[in-house]
Amino acid sequence: MGYALSHNTAFDTVSVNTGFATKNIVARAIAERANLRFCSEDSLSISLDETTTRDDIAQLWSFFAESGRLVPQVAALEAGVAPLLPAALLRTSSFLTHPVFNTHHSETSMLRYIRRLSDFDLALDRSMIPLGSCTMKLNATSEMIPITWPEFAHIHPFAPASQRAGYTELDEQLRAWLCQATGYAGISLQPNAGSQGEYAGMLAIRAFHASRGESRRNICLIPSSAHGTNPASATMVGMKVVVTACDAQGNVDMADLKAKCEQHSANLAAIMITYPSTHGVFETSVKELCALVHNHGGRVYVDGANMNALVGLAAPGEFGGDVSHLNLHKTFCIPHGGGGPGVGPVCVVADLVPFLPGHAASSLPLPLGQGGGEGHAVSAVSAAPLGNAAVLPISWMYCRMMGADGLKAATEVAILSANYISARLASHFPTLYTSVPQDGKPGRVAHECILDLRPLKDTTGGALGISAEDVTKRLMDYGFHAPTLSFPVPGTLMVEPTESESLDELDRFINAMIAIRAEIARVERGEWPRDNNPLKNAPHTAAALLAEAWDRPYPREIAAFPVASLKQSKYWPPVGRIDNVYGDRNLFCSCVPVQPYIDH
Ligand SMILES: *Cc1c(COP(=O)(O)O)cnc(C)c1O
Repeated sequence: MGYALSHNTAFDTVSVNTGFATKNIVARAIAERANLRFCSEDSLSISLDETTTRDDIAQLWSFFAESGRLVPQVAALEAGVAPLLPAALLRTSSFLTHPVFNTHHSETSMLRYIRRLSDFDLALDRSMIPLGSCTMKLNATSEMIPITWPEFAHIHPFAPASQRAGYTELDEQLRAWLCQATGYAGISLQPNAGSQGEYAGMLAIRAFHASRGESRRNICLIPSSAHGTNPASATMVGMKVVVTACDAQGNVDMADLKAKCEQHSANLAAIMITYPSTHGVFETSVKELCALVHNHGGRVYVDGANMNALVGLAAPGEFGGDVSHLNLHKTFCIPHGGGGPGVGPVCVVADLVPFLPGHAASSLPLPLGQGGGEGHAVSAVSAAPLGNAAVLPISWMYCRMMGADGLKAATEVAILSANYISARLASHFPTLYTSVPQDGKPGRVAHECILDLRPLKDTTGGALGISAEDVTKRLMDYGFHAPTLSFPVPGTLMVEPTESESLDELDRFINAMIAIRAEIARVERGEWPRDNNPLKNAPHTAAALLAEAWDRPYPREIAAFPVASLKQSKYWPPVGRIDNVYGDRNLFCSCVPVQPYIDH
């Protein structure tokens, strides 16, 4: 049609030099309900995919038909068009050869395949997943349904603002609610994970110091109990991490913190704390800690991953925090597992609002201080202006259906559940860290508890004795997903029940743990060898249990059905014990068949 492409080769996207016609072409496209990408004043870009039809192409051409230009016919052109894909890049090897890509040709067959995969899985649809620090709570169906609606699911992240008024409203409301829940003045939903929110938050702190001529401030204090993403984020923005100590009760050691603040006063940029701490305790010195760091010119980053213990009860923006991230895939119900998609909003106090991430393509209205566009102090941290926008309706639905009272009640039940587990297990698996006991009342935990299993090694035969890992494997035989293993303290289990679990399910978990403790006692008494018992051999697969030979010092019944209720409902682990650490360190391809890969 007389237009030139601005490139010689292409895969699925072409940019067209449209000159003075650009605005008219876009206007004609919008009138026909099509969006073309404005690249510049005189060029447009078009993306096509496998769903594009010949009619779509014909329609696209019609937008470009300025006066006098002839619209070609697809059929007439087809034979003579040279491919835009360079020959050197064309694939000649075979691909997708794994049988799974060539086996399931009907919906029934596909359904059964997926069902078989899910049968392998020990997921929330079978039992609680008590992973501490991960907040594995109910992802309610009513929260999930809206994300399947095409109005939410089928909009391009760069669609013109006039076409996404609904998303703009959702963004505004959700940010307002989250500001209320955290006590902060401004918030951006752009980061795609908690760790990315940390990164955006640390960029804000860095830019704040730079704006005041204090770029030298580059020291970030981080207590030794911190989640690994904290030092990683601080390092990524160019800060130097100084680790501060925890005391015997697991709390930030205030004397050590004071000394380090004084030592680094001139260059102090920030502290990163988690509240309640990753030790699962509300540290009573948190206000004092924030004031101390502020007095030395540093800003306070409060990791918000544990907001499930705070929402409705306390707000980091009010007790001294300057910046936090939330994990909408933890506290606010977005499904969490298999790596996402997550949303890690970054929230800040008023004087840091100008340092929230911007976006070159952002034309969203920004009433709650989401960053601006180009030239902004902190640029985009995600490709799309609103990050993983398509999953935001889940958190919106959660807040809307719960209301302020419901969110507060959820927090209270989460804390109550954790304390119930901690108290009922106290004489079997003591909780490592609690608040200080007061007036004859026992110490309490926040929304999770760390069960200390380290002494069991010694009582069951030393280094080769029963470990926390053995307990996690044995829990599979009981139908439970393991709690968090060896974080933040090696050899312990961190349990977080959340508000979603009923008293029945909490008791089922507690009873399983008590039964496992009784099994450990039999090893302690020497009834079972320390290296050949139901814990060391867990998990037990159906194949192992039904094998001709059974030479173990305990009956099959104890292996498979240690509690009677399992006879009604049993999860069969698909594989026996694997060596996790060996597997992590020795990657190999598990595709079938293996031989061609070896020959290759
Ligand atoms: C989960 C978590 C993070 C990181 O969040 P992601 O969304 O996994 O990146 C940071 N800090 C703490 C304490 C966490 O539990």
